[in-house]
Amino acid sequence: MSARRSAFVPETGARSGSARIRCEVCPRGCELTPGGIGSCRARGNVGGTIMPMGYGRVTSLAIDPIEKKPLACWRPGTKVLSLGSFGCNLHCAWCQNHIISQAGEDGVPWREASPEAIVALAVRAHEEDELMTSVAYTYNEPLVGWEYVRDTSVLVHEAGLANVLVTAGCVRESVVREVAPLIDAVNIDLKSIRHETYSAVGGDLDAVQSAIRLFAAEPNCHVEVTTLVVPGINDTREEMDELAAWIASVDKNIVLHVTRFFPAWRMRKRTPTPVSMVYDLADVARAHLSNVFTGNC
Ligand code: SF4
Repeated sequence: MSARRSAFVPETGARSGSARIRCEVCPRGCELTPGGIGSCRARGNVGGTIMPMGYGRVTSLAIDPIEKKPLACWRPGTKVLSLGSFGCNLHCAWCQNHIISQAGEDGVPWREASPEAIVALAVRAHEEDELMTSVAYTYNEPLVGWEYVRDTSVLVHEAGLANVLVTAGCVRESVVREVAPLIDAVNIDLKSIRHETYSAVGGDLDAVQSAIRLFAAEPNCHVEVTTLVVPGINDTREEMDELAAWIASVDKNIVLHVTRFFPAWRMRKRTPTPVSMVYDLADVARAHLSNVFTGNC
């Protein structure tokens, strides 16, 4: 593992002659002085340019069943080459992937993997197993390094494979518009339908709702949504009713996964969500949506 700057980092970030630069990738709008790193720990001011520090730096790589993303209604039974880097612009106390999502370049081991290297791996995996048909950007928040998603996705399509994105969706519209046309299937977290819940984790509900609308408007992108039910955070029938009704207002055929929380990170001492609660809230959602699945039960 190396802590030096990746050879693959592109010069695509915001630039300024002044000392302080605002990152425009997500609603946080971090203002970074030279050497500064954003709240996501994945973008930094390097010599007057906002750079994606995780570009070409992979912390996790695995071939997963597509259902694990989770995607329930897109290419079922297939496999996906899944990769993640480090960093996330949200800081949910219950994060299951906090070891990489809350780390920066010095906080977790990584190895270099250019878009070309990832595509070569995916093509080889597809040649060995024809059920391996896609590449997923997942594990941490991929869109804080959207340039890597874009560059890899273009090559993945050229190789005849598909792109899957697993995201919290809390980025500016301009980022979604860059990436969405390249994505074949997306799973977006909708953590809550309450502004205050998003504020508590450093996010913005409006941005997430906008992302869901934009992905759903892409003619070639299959959309699923996940809501992790965390006791005491988003576990009421009223909230699930409101959340599912909002998704249905976009498209009642959007798939919703209602999933069970297990203790993690800063909520290690909590108890898991009761299975009966997950089933009950899924039934509440079914009053609005055609395709509701439960997960982790
Ligand atoms: S992407 Fe990262 S650096 Fe940019 S505004 Fe969001 S948290 Fe800040």
